[in-house]
Formats: sequence, C-alpha cells, structure tokens
Amino acid sequence: MRATLDFLQERYAQFNALMFGGELPQVRLRLSRARTYLGQLRYRRSRPLFGRTKYTNLTISISTLYDLPETEVEDTLIHEMIHLQILLGGKRDSSTHGPLFRAKMREINEQFGRHITVSHHATEQERQQDQRKRNHLMCVCSLTSGKQGIILARPSNISGLWQRLPQLPDVTDCRWYLSTDTYLNRYPRPLTLKIYSIPSDILTRIIAEARPLVRQNGQIFPAKCKIGGD
Ligand SMILES: [Zn+2]
Repeated sequence: MRATLDFLQERYAQFNALMFGGELPQVRLRLSRARTYLGQLRYRRSRPLFGRTKYTNLTISISTLYDLPETEVEDTLIHEMIHLQILLGGKRDSSTHGPLFRAKMREINEQFGRHITVSHHATEQERQQDQRKRNHLMCVCSLTSGKQGIILARPSNISGLWQRLPQLPDVTDCRWYLSTDTYLNRYPRPLTLKIYSIPSDILTRIIAEARPLVRQNGQIFPAKCKIGGD
C-alpha cells in the first residue's frame, strides 16, 4: 500500500493511545515522494537564553514512493513516533538510535508484535538529529586551490598536526578552533590525514560560534576571548 493522510492520521491517534500513553502532541503528518527515507521527523528548534529548548513545526513525513506492506508503513510511522517521544521527553539519547530509542523500540516490538528496525532510516535528516554536544578540535585549512577544508584532530594527535599541516604543499593557511557544533558529529576522526570539504555557509556558521585555539609553550588551549578579524 501507499500511505494516505487519512490512514496516517487514524494510525497516529491509535498508536499514540496504545503505545505512547496518549502523550504525543498532534503533529503535522505529510506525504512525500522521498527516495532516501521511508519516514522522517522534522522540527524547528529554538533555544532561548533562559528556559527549555522549544520544538515547533513538528512534522512527520512518510514516503509514498514505494509500495509497501501496510505493516511496514505502520512500523515506519511508529519509528518516527519514538523519535518524537524522545525529543519531547527532554532526555538525550547518546546517538540517533541510541539506548533510549532501542529500549522503546524493543518494548513496542515485544508487546505489540511489531517489527520496527533502525536500519533503513539513517538519512541526512537523521544525521542532523545527532545533537550531542561534543568538543571538536578543528583545523580550517586554506588550500592552494582556493578551497577550504577542515581537519578534525584527536586530543592525542593535535600537537603533531599543528606542526605538520602548515608544511603540507597544498596548504596555505591553518586556523585551529574548538567547536561544539553538532554538524561536526558526522565526521569520523581517522588516524590518517583527511581533509573534509564542508559547505562554506556551514563553515562560516561553525567558525562564528567556535573558540580559536592557541598554542603557547607547547600547550594548546582555547583563547580566552574571541579573536576577531583577520
Ligand atoms: Zn530513525
């Protein structure tokens, strides 16, 4: 079958009452023709200076591109409802489908004979939902090609990279930062040297929020205040 809005609305209300104690708010349900996901939860997040993070424009999209068994469409909807419950519950899962997600998934699968999985949902949207705050040691490298790339260091190898990077033939400039931007969560920190290209608007945002790193007497630490300008 392919989902319809009526089907989704009816099932959402039914699953909410049955599996989530009716605690989920009414969200926007929509159909999409997406190729890259079956289901997707989107939202707008605003973090006031004081008080709790707010989530608005909560939307669950279900792709109708594929003709699927009805139970799989339902499982996809329930999968997104678990994300919603965790998001609004205020607890942080350690990853997109971390222990909180898996515990709820198992509970529903066992209690209601469902077959919800985590496998086919790792999309760009879900990487965006990896919202753990982590410290990233990031070097922004300007290259002879005129492009910029980033290198992410581990605490154990930042000293070596700090010295080595400026000596690479393709590198014209290196600036180091400490960033907690969650966009950087998606990149692995390989042991070999790897320069990632990153959309320039995103890089600009990350740098604006990051703290420059300085090196003094062999020690690397965040500059006390932001160093502005060039
Ligand atoms: Zn998911």
